[in-house]
Amino acid sequence: MHSVVKSMNSKIYDLNDINKYDEALRSAAEAVRNGGLVVFPTETVYGLGADATNDSAVKKIFQAKGRPSDNPLIVHFAKFDDCYEYVGEVSDAAKTIAEHFMPGPVTVIVKKGNALSPTVTAGLDTVAVRVPSDRFAHDFLKEAGCPVAAPSANISGKPSPTRAEYALEDMNGRADVILCGGDCLVGLESTVVDCTTEKVKILRPGAVTAEELMKVVTLDESSISESQTQRPRSPGMKYRHYKPDAYVIAVDGSDESIIKYLNDADFDEKCAVIMFDSILGHINAEVKLSLGDRNHPETAAHDLFAHFRYCDRAGITKIYVSCMPTDNIGDAYMNRLNKATDEYMMLGE
Ligand code: AMP
Ligand code: MG
Repeated sequence: MHSVVKSMNSKIYDLNDINKYDEALRSAAEAVRNGGLVVFPTETVYGLGADATNDSAVKKIFQAKGRPSDNPLIVHFAKFDDCYEYVGEVSDAAKTIAEHFMPGPVTVIVKKGNALSPTVTAGLDTVAVRVPSDRFAHDFLKEAGCPVAAPSANISGKPSPTRAEYALEDMNGRADVILCGGDCLVGLESTVVDCTTEKVKILRPGAVTAEELMKVVTLDESSISESQTQRPRSPGMKYRHYKPDAYVIAVDGSDESIIKYLNDADFDEKCAVIMFDSILGHINAEVKLSLGDRNHPETAAHDLFAHFRYCDRAGITKIYVSCMPTDNIGDAYMNRLNKATDEYMMLGE
């Protein structure tokens, strides 16, 4: 899985260095237009981008990540209007979602056109369109002037990078240009919404929530419950790509019950606990990683992948991590956590 050779000298830019900002954007845009690969920050996770109209460039993405080209990629634009030249029919629902939530952490599925590389859509007749709100992502896409196909900038099998250091860890030597921004604001991938059916469907929960979408479009409600009922029932049905190296135990219960459980737990292996602050203060563990305040679940969403990456680096072999209620961003958090989980510990009150 990690056999791809790091064969190039990546040009690395710090986007927070204002003296180099224009040069960084020019260099990244040129690389993409010449069929190269560029790592760039967005508000969700770091992306690994290529010119979506250039088939051989898009194929390099799969090589660099070390994964087979089965999954379709999301195509990124500087503004939504730019997509019309490249896609087929855009439904009213897609336009409405774009009006309300773009730029932002949401992706709409629309009919594909003929202008994009067939590898981007992996043989489907639809295509995923996203307009990031991150200023660096916007400026890069604008400078590139072409649609940019991009999955997350991690080696296949690792959690998505939400910090420049983790994008560098995986992609230094594999991408032509790496743009380092700050930490990703959201920290989880975008909400993916299929807008080609009469009622729109949530294919993947993210920071733009079902509650918000329902206010502006007609939502197929069974698509919400699918991701929510996935917990304990089907841990086998997970993609491994959100998974840290460690064995992951997802713990669900009140603060009290979790504290008691962790205090009785046998930390025999190299363990980490990823918990809310109200729990961390009451337990002893070698590695304690914070999900912040239970009442601010955005913090947990923001830091989950970064904590997983930290654990991989530290050689952690067992992780205890907190579940949370599936309202709002909790839906996206649990969706990713479910896919990383090996075992559930349901403690109740
Ligand atoms: P990532 O690039 O890792 O954020 O993942 C892209 C997500 O968008 C995956 O879950 C894909 O299955 C989904 N996706 C991309 N294009 C399409 C499409 N045309 N139809 C349905 N899902 C798509
Ligand atoms: Mg990914």
